Amino acid sequence: MCGSENLGSVFSTHSEAHTGVTVWTNARLATLAEGCEGLGVVENGAVAVKDGVIVFVGAEAELHADLKSDASIIDCEGRWITPGLIDCHTHIVFGGDRAMEFEMQLEGASYEDVARAGGGIVSSVKATNALTVEGLVGAALPRVDTLLAEGVSTLEIKSGYGLSIEGELNMLRAARALEKVRPVRVVTSYLAAHATPVEYKGRNGDYITDIVLPGMDKAHAEDLVDAVDGFCEGIAFSVDEIRRVFDHAKALGIPVKLHAEQLSNLGGARMAASYGALSADHLEYLDAEGAAAMAEAGTVAVILPGAFYAINETRKPPIQGLRDAGVRMAIATDCNPGTSPLTSLLLTMNMSATLFRLTVDECIAGATREAARALGLLAQTGTLEVGKSADLAIWNILRPAELVYRIGFNPLHSRIFKGQTIEGQQVSV
Ligand SMILES: [Zn+2]
Repeated sequence: MCGSENLGSVFSTHSEAHTGVTVWTNARLATLAEGCEGLGVVENGAVAVKDGVIVFVGAEAELHADLKSDASIIDCEGRWITPGLIDCHTHIVFGGDRAMEFEMQLEGASYEDVARAGGGIVSSVKATNALTVEGLVGAALPRVDTLLAEGVSTLEIKSGYGLSIEGELNMLRAARALEKVRPVRVVTSYLAAHATPVEYKGRNGDYITDIVLPGMDKAHAEDLVDAVDGFCEGIAFSVDEIRRVFDHAKALGIPVKLHAEQLSNLGGARMAASYGALSADHLEYLDAEGAAAMAEAGTVAVILPGAFYAINETRKPPIQGLRDAGVRMAIATDCNPGTSPLTSLLLTMNMSATLFRLTVDECIAGATREAARALGLLAQTGTLEVGKSADLAIWNILRPAELVYRIGFNPLHSRIFKGQTIEGQQVSV
């Protein structure tokens, strides 16, 4: 639907008071509605919300006068409204940081020097496991708040720095807790198959048997897992090892996704697509066969320019190949302490355009509609359409391209989450 939409049944009788209805008027809308041309732009638009759900979106002239007269009206003064942004790939819950090794590398230290000094993923595992759930929440909040201040309404958070059953569970408990202390929707991914802990060095199979699979059972029983993820790479887990993880997820009815083809082509994306994966992420080394398999399975490509930038990668993901194959593309920060210490989805949009030549429409869709698709949440959020959660971002911009074009500038005017205006900047505890 590209025209105006409304839920007639909600306002079926004149006697029904429209108490609790809020209408944002005098706005320019980028609805991102499916099937619409480009961003699904509506000039002179309005969005009406009741009980946290969008009940009308379209041209203000088509808004029922009765509805408008009884509602509380917010004049947007010509500002743009987009769906609330969605960061669909983060490792935002972790302890410590890796600034020291960043500094060492700039001063000429080798990878081995850094490892000897206790750097690398081992240091993040140690710092993460040293924190309680409350400690992990406190460590993550300043990063989460930075994203929310840019209009983010939905955030995916992975485990993967615990690498023990309790450590992985604590990360997921922290992710769930964040949703309770901030106005944001959190989606979790169980990523015990991220790296092999030192005590299992060279024994990936044993680690999967002893930790990854039983940990998944426990996390699932505690309702901590929305999806299961893995890192399929020469330095991490093989395609066959990830198959064991995915088979287990499948038996539990949990959707899967995969870090694939980041540093080499192992055929991980093709394997993930054979499980109907929600997404395959990174994809610098993806080949045409992998892209075709993803297109057929409806697996979304999640593009992560922050990691590409931070590790000085030169091989770019095959954007034109993904377009040609008809693969949907989302973009995300990949916020993590080692390879993408990035907490700006707006900058991620700019990087996707500048580094990979995504168009403005692709960048904005990638951080809204396609990110929702990558999380399996498209029925709930990601576009301005009737029946969806009223997650809106209102911007002080003249045209949507400004969201992608500027570097290090935040034009957010206000953020609406489930119909509620979030006042001011969130303050970290
Ligand atoms: Zn990642």
